[in-house]
Amino acid sequence: MRQFRDQSPPAPNAASSQRGDWQTVRALMPYLWPQNRPELRFRVVVSMAFLLAAKGVTVAVPVLLKHAVDSLNAPALGVGLAAVPVALLLAYGLARIVSLAFKELQGAIFANVAHYAIRETALQTFKHMHRLSLRFHLERQTGGLSRAIERGTRGIEFVLRMALFNIVPTMIEIVLVGGLLWAMLNGWFALATMATIAAYVVWTVVLTNWRTRYRRAMNESDSRAHTKAIDSLLNYETVKYFGNEGHEARRFDSALESFETSAIKSKTSLAWLNTGQGTIIAIGVTIVMLMAANGVREGSMTVGDFVLVNTYLLQLYLPLNFLGSAYREIKHSLTDMEAMFGLLDADAEITDAPNAPDLTLSAGEVAFNGVTFAYDPRRPVLKDVSFRVPAGKSVAIVGASGAGKSTLSRLLFRFYDVSAGSITIDGQDIRAISQSSLRAAIGIVPQDTVLFNDTVYYNVAYGRPDATPAEIETAAKLAKIHDFIVGLPDGYQTMVGERGLKLSGGEKQRVAIARTILKAPQVLLFDEATSALDTHTEKEIQASLKEVATGRTTLMIAHRLSTVVDADEILVLDHGEITERGTHADLLAQSGQYATMWQRQQEASEAMETLERTGEAREALAAEVAE
Ligand code: ATP
Repeated sequence: MRQFRDQSPPAPNAASSQRGDWQTVRALMPYLWPQNRPELRFRVVVSMAFLLAAKGVTVAVPVLLKHAVDSLNAPALGVGLAAVPVALLLAYGLARIVSLAFKELQGAIFANVAHYAIRETALQTFKHMHRLSLRFHLERQTGGLSRAIERGTRGIEFVLRMALFNIVPTMIEIVLVGGLLWAMLNGWFALATMATIAAYVVWTVVLTNWRTRYRRAMNESDSRAHTKAIDSLLNYETVKYFGNEGHEARRFDSALESFETSAIKSKTSLAWLNTGQGTIIAIGVTIVMLMAANGVREGSMTVGDFVLVNTYLLQLYLPLNFLGSAYREIKHSLTDMEAMFGLLDADAEITDAPNAPDLTLSAGEVAFNGVTFAYDPRRPVLKDVSFRVPAGKSVAIVGASGAGKSTLSRLLFRFYDVSAGSITIDGQDIRAISQSSLRAAIGIVPQDTVLFNDTVYYNVAYGRPDATPAEIETAAKLAKIHDFIVGLPDGYQTMVGERGLKLSGGEKQRVAIARTILKAPQVLLFDEATSALDTHTEKEIQASLKEVATGRTTLMIAHRLSTVVDADEILVLDHGEITERGTHADLLAQSGQYATMWQRQQEASEAMETLERTGEAREALAAEVAE
């Protein structure tokens, strides 16, 4: 199976559908108020109660301070009354502790909810990635996808932390303080404080929205840089073969450069934001303090009131200062989350029909009925292909490279749906049954085997994860890989490296054969299963494949015709059409394309054998001379 990458530059942000921030927040809500987890809902309620309690106490603290100051300031009425400010000051200290404790409790109780949301969203996105079609995955690049998920989950944590421990508490505090100022002093104080806050918030929101475009550009170039780095490292050997390290570095650097440009713009625009915020607060504080000083001078306010106003302003503006950066960061995090939730919105191209039943497998007859298919409507790949693999029989498909052979196997696995015609297994259209039951019935040994970066044992066991070690060993023996594995220093526990690159092509293919043997499906698909093996091992494996295939429906895709001579029927595929069909003998008798291919391959293999014999003779001679 050949892997095709979209050659156009990848869509950098995995899904840059621009949903609004509210939509993103709405998408997050079900995870914060999970239907099936009442204990988490309870935690949400309790932690909110603590939040309110903490704020109530915080707002009461300056009132205690005011009374303490006023009683200190009162004319000395006797030594006994000194107990009043002391009690007030003690209450003040206690209130501060209680407020802090409530805040911490809120955080601790909410932690489970936040982490549940992070885990669930990451898991749902990951599951969805597997639901999306091969077409989606060939067009996107893995580096960008994993980056979007990573940034998205980090974003959730941040938004929750900021919203629940900063924005919401500060808003509650603003309302409470406004009310208290109004009640205890006069409406003008409340008005001046609120006006300052309003101006601050408006400035922050307007400027932050304007700056979001830079953040989005930063994300896009960051994803691009990441995908380029991953792709380049995955192609490590190719880079070396062509000495293209410089070229790779330039490609990476160009993505880094655009990241740099947008990051700098983001930083400089921040200076505007900060300066404006600072100015608004300074003006607001000055006005309110002047008003308070004037009140004290006129005698309408006590020194305690002056301290009260001052404490409230400091208490409010400090988190407000933080509110600016919190809003900014929340906005950024929402942009990050937007990409992740956008991925969740991507439609799975191949889906199960509603209430699709499982495949009812009897003998495993596979039929392609007038199948026409195109990856891109402008270029048909298969044209009206019809054939039948009777249960337990084998059909081989041969033909030039690019004729559409592997496409047949992708269609049988339902990675794509046919454009016209149908594919059936035991008479059931594969579009009408569940994908899981379809794929459980078929086993493939692909052209290029990619392994998981884990142990040989894990990779063989992947065919049936609940298999016993003895079953795994038997499968490995059948695939002629057991002896090789036990000969390795770490045996079955040997790590195979990224994509299995520490094994040779032939070894990887044998691991793939072993895991398909372990899966023991009714329908087998060999996509040039032995192409990476030398003639000797190929013969050995052919024998075991034949053994495995006994009684199973088998579709073989092959280049080397010598491997398919025994097939019950051989189809010659040319430019997506079946041009010849019959047994090996029939096709030779037809003296057509197959006969010509056979002739050519026979001559080539004879030439190879002669070469091998001469090589062996020369080696033998050299050995004799050496003795
Ligand atoms: P080979 O023997 O070299 O593996 P094949 O007969 O198996 O070739 P296929 O892999 O089936 O060929 O490909 C058939 C045609 O479809 C090729 O021309 C290929 O370029 C095209 N093709 C394959 N995959 C895709 C894809 N995902 N998107 C677009 N075109 C594709």
